[in-house]
Amino acid sequence: MTDAFPRVENRLYAEAVPIDRIAEEVGTPVFVYSKLALCEAYDALAAALAPVPHSICYSIKSNMNLAVVRTLVARGAGVDATSGGELFRALRAGADPGKVVYSGVGKTDAEIGLALEAGIKLFNVESRAELRRIDACAAAHGGVAPVAFRVNPDVDPRTHPYISTGLRTSKFGIPIADAVDAYAEAKALEHVRVIGVDCHIGSQILSLEPFADALARMRGLIGELRDAGHAIEVIDVGGGLGVSYAEEEAPSAAAYADVVTGAVGGLDCEIVVEPGRSISANAGLLVTRVLYEKSNEEKRFVVVDAAMNDLIRPALYQAYQPIEPVGPPRHPEQTVDVVGPVCESGDFLARERSLPRLERGDLLAVRSAGAYAFAMSSNYNGRLRAAEVLVSGDRFAVVRKRESLEDLVRGESIPKDLTG
Ligand SMILES: *Cc1c(COP(=O)(O)O)cnc(C)c1O
Repeated sequence: MTDAFPRVENRLYAEAVPIDRIAEEVGTPVFVYSKLALCEAYDALAAALAPVPHSICYSIKSNMNLAVVRTLVARGAGVDATSGGELFRALRAGADPGKVVYSGVGKTDAEIGLALEAGIKLFNVESRAELRRIDACAAAHGGVAPVAFRVNPDVDPRTHPYISTGLRTSKFGIPIADAVDAYAEAKALEHVRVIGVDCHIGSQILSLEPFADALARMRGLIGELRDAGHAIEVIDVGGGLGVSYAEEEAPSAAAYADVVTGAVGGLDCEIVVEPGRSISANAGLLVTRVLYEKSNEEKRFVVVDAAMNDLIRPALYQAYQPIEPVGPPRHPEQTVDVVGPVCESGDFLARERSLPRLERGDLLAVRSAGAYAFAMSSNYNGRLRAAEVLVSGDRFAVVRKRESLEDLVRGESIPKDLTG
C-alpha cells in the first residue's frame, strides 16, 4: 500500500498536500483523511474476496463522515449501521439501502421502522425479544423483514475487553446453543424471513485464529439450521480485523479473506463482511498545534489544542497512537507526555513518548486517527468539535466545518418560569 501520509524533505503530507497548508487554512485541531488510503484498503479487501459471492458493508461507526462514506459507497460498498442515526447517515451519503445491514442490541421501534421504510438488506437480530418486535413492526408496516440472528460463538478474540463482543458473557447476540430454538421461533413468524446467520466477535483483532474458530462454529450451525429446514443464503462474518498502530503486525486483507473463505466458502452463501477500522483507521490523521510546554519534577508535558474529546482511544483503551512533528525537527529529542486542555488526568494523547523538543505553534500529527476518533468525539469541557478534511491528490476540501460557539448551545433553552 502507498503511504498516503509521506514525509517529503522532512515535511508531512497528506497525499500531495502539505499538512501545514491545511492547518494554516482550516485551523487546528483538524482530522485529515486520504481518499487514496480509503480506496486502497477497500480495494484490497474487494480483490481478496472477488472469487466468492460477497458484500462489503463498511462499518460506518468507525468513521461516519458523509464524504468518507460516499467515497466508499462510490466504490461499491454497502454499509453496516448500528443505529437509526447511522442508517440516516448512510442513506444521506448515497448508500443503496439494499446493501445496508443493521446490527445493534437495542433497536427501537422507530429505528426498526426507518430500516423497514428504507428496505434494507438485512436485520442482524440480537435477541428473541427483538425478533418479536421486528416482526410486529414489519406487520404494522405491511412487509416482511429479512433477518439473521447475531450468534455469539463464544470465542475469545484476544483484544481489549471493551471491544470483545463474542464471549459467552457479552451483551451481544444470542448464545450459539440457543440458535436452533431461536431460528425455529423466527420461522413461525409471518413478518420476518430468515435469510442468514451473523456473528461479530470484536475489534482490533490481530490474530486470524479467533476468526477461524468462530467461523468454524458458524459453519457447523449453518449445517444444523439447514437440516432443520431453514434457507440460509447469507453468512455475515462481521468486522474486527485489526490494524497496525505501532509495532504490531496486522494480517493483510488477503490473509483475512483466505481464512474467511476457507471457513465459510463453498457453502452456497453470500459472504457479508463488515470492516470498519481496517478501512478507515490508517486513512486519517489528527493534526494539532502545540500551545504550551511545561514540566514538573517528574515529567515534561506538551499541551496541545486537541484533547480526549477529539480522540478518546488513548484514555479509553490505553491505546497507542503514533505522533510526529509535521515539520522538520528543530531540537533534540526528549521524553514527554502529550496532553490536551481537558480537566481530566486521563486526557492524554501520548505518554512517555520521545519527541523532538517542540515550541509553541509547532504542529503535531497523530497517525492512525481515521477510525473511532472523530466518530467518538464530544463537546465535553465546552470544546468545539474539530474540522474534518478530505484529501485527494493535490486537492482538499473541508468535509465538516469546525463547530462554532453557537453550535455548542443549539437546542438548549432557558425556561424563564423554571429558572428564576
Ligand atoms: C463495530 C462493528 C463492526 C466493525 O468493527 P471493526 O473492528 O471496526 O472492523 C462490524 N460489525 C459490527 C456489528 C460492529 O458492531
